[in-house]
Amino acid sequence: MSVNKRDSDWSIFEIRAAVDAYLKMLALELSGERFVKAAENLALRETSLPTRTKGSVEFRMQNISTVLMKMDQAFITGYKPARNVGSNVEQAIRKVLSERGVQPGDPTAPTADEEILERRAAALQKQKMAEPPKGIKRPKRASSLRAVYVRDPEVRAWVRNEAGGHCEGCGEPAPFQKLDLPFLEVHHVKPLAEQGSDQISNAVAICPNCHRRCHHSNDRQEFTQLLYEKVKRLIPE
Ligand SMILES: [Zn+2]
Ligand SMILES: [Zn+2]
Repeated sequence: MSVNKRDSDWSIFEIRAAVDAYLKMLALELSGERFVKAAENLALRETSLPTRTKGSVEFRMQNISTVLMKMDQAFITGYKPARNVGSNVEQAIRKVLSERGVQPGDPTAPTADEEILERRAAALQKQKMAEPPKGIKRPKRASSLRAVYVRDPEVRAWVRNEAGGHCEGCGEPAPFQKLDLPFLEVHHVKPLAEQGSDQISNAVAICPNCHRRCHHSNDRQEFTQLLYEKVKRLIPE
C-alpha cells in the first residue's frame, strides 16, 4: 500500500486530530497570543498524522477555515479559506466541530460589526443565493464598540511628506488631492490594536487600494512583508 494516501482518504481520527490542533491555534489567535503554524504542522505529523505531508496538513487546515467560514464562525486568518472542500471531508469536519461544541451560526443575520459583516457576505457569496435579498429598509443605528486610539498628527504629516505624493506600496501617484495635498492614507504596519506604535517606524503613507489590500487581501501578510523591505524607515515591532 502506498504511504502517500490520497487527500480524500482522511479517517475521522485524522480529521479529529487536525481539528483539535486547529481549534487550539484559533483560541491562541483570538486571545492575541502567538503560535507558529509550521511547528504545529510538524507536531501533528510526528504524532497523529505520520503518513501525511506538510502540504497535505496545510491544505486540511485551509479546509477547516472554509467550513468555519460557511458556518459563520471565526477562523484562523493565516489559513486562507480559498480552496474548495470535498463534501465528504466537509461533513467529517462539521461532525468533529460539532463534537467539540462548535455550532453553525446564521450567516444571514444582520450585524453592525464590519468584520463579521464581511465574513458573512463572503460565506454567502460562496453559496448559491436563489433570490435577490429583501435587505433592510431602515437600518438601525448601532453604537460602536470599536476602540479608537489617540494618534500624533506629526507622525501622519511626516510619513506623508516622506512619501512625496506617491504611494509607498505600489509607487503610483496619490489618486487625488485633499486640502491641496496628495491624498494618501497612513497605515500602521503593526496595528495599534495589536500594541503597534504610532511612530514613523511603524507607519506608511499608501493609496486607498494598497490600504485595503493591507487589511483585507488574501496576500496581506506577503504585502506587509514587502512594505518592510521597501520602506527603509520601518522597523518590525
Ligand atoms: Zn498603492
Ligand atoms: Zn491601516
